[in-house]
Amino acid sequence: MEKLIITIAPTGNVPTKEKTPHVPVTPKEIAESVYESYMEGAAIAHIHARDEQGKPTYRRDIFKEIVERIREKCDIIIQISTGARAGKTAEERGEALDLGAEMASLTTGSSNFPTQVNSNSPDLIEYLCKRMLEFRVIPEVEVFDAAMIPNAIALAKKGLIPTPMHFNLVLGVPGSLPATPRNLFYLYESLPEDCTWQVSAIGPLHVELSMMAMALGGNIRTGIEDNIYYDKGVLATNPKLVERIVRVARAAGREIATPEEARRILNLR
Ligand code: ZN
Repeated sequence: MEKLIITIAPTGNVPTKEKTPHVPVTPKEIAESVYESYMEGAAIAHIHARDEQGKPTYRRDIFKEIVERIREKCDIIIQISTGARAGKTAEERGEALDLGAEMASLTTGSSNFPTQVNSNSPDLIEYLCKRMLEFRVIPEVEVFDAAMIPNAIALAKKGLIPTPMHFNLVLGVPGSLPATPRNLFYLYESLPEDCTWQVSAIGPLHVELSMMAMALGGNIRTGIEDNIYYDKGVLATNPKLVERIVRVARAAGREIATPEEARRILNLR
């Protein structure tokens, strides 16, 4: 088995300072939290931006500051979110793709979030694919529902997504696929053979489903974007979430990939 790639998702669009003081929202806080997570073993940072009010935004200047601050601290792989929550138009959602980040998220279909549509029309998906190709940004295909896997395979056949593809199986978003072992195994069996993949397990089965992904040869995303709690009633911090995954992986004999090793495994070069 390849070494385990851990992605830290420190912020997301949903967690607020009212819900947890540990969520980083300013560029400085995000870069610090990413660096602390990198020191624990994270190889990829999945980045969302917030405006001065703490609201989700695609503002290029804010993404730019986050990317620069992270770059000053470490060589972690930076992955920019193009998700549906923060922006409306395709142009807005793809605005930060020219900042030199090596990866970006790409959702290949629509589903529901708790209070809004996770809206990704075929036109919008193709626009983001082309913009990623233009700036040599490697997509991470975000799978919130089973149909998003065949949709990604069809986009790869059209030359819009480079292969082998990298997938993130997102389980436990209310409105999308629940976080259960059966759903994880079903998505895993639906993946193309030559891909790399990880699980983002949201909710109380975070560790168990992460262990299952590990056993299946997959990788793991963790962070406050996915889970504001470390344990029942105990708020999480980003480095603590990474440290726990590292501990579990080492106990199972799986070594942790550095950013350089992750670049090789994911064909980022
Ligand atoms: Zn995200």
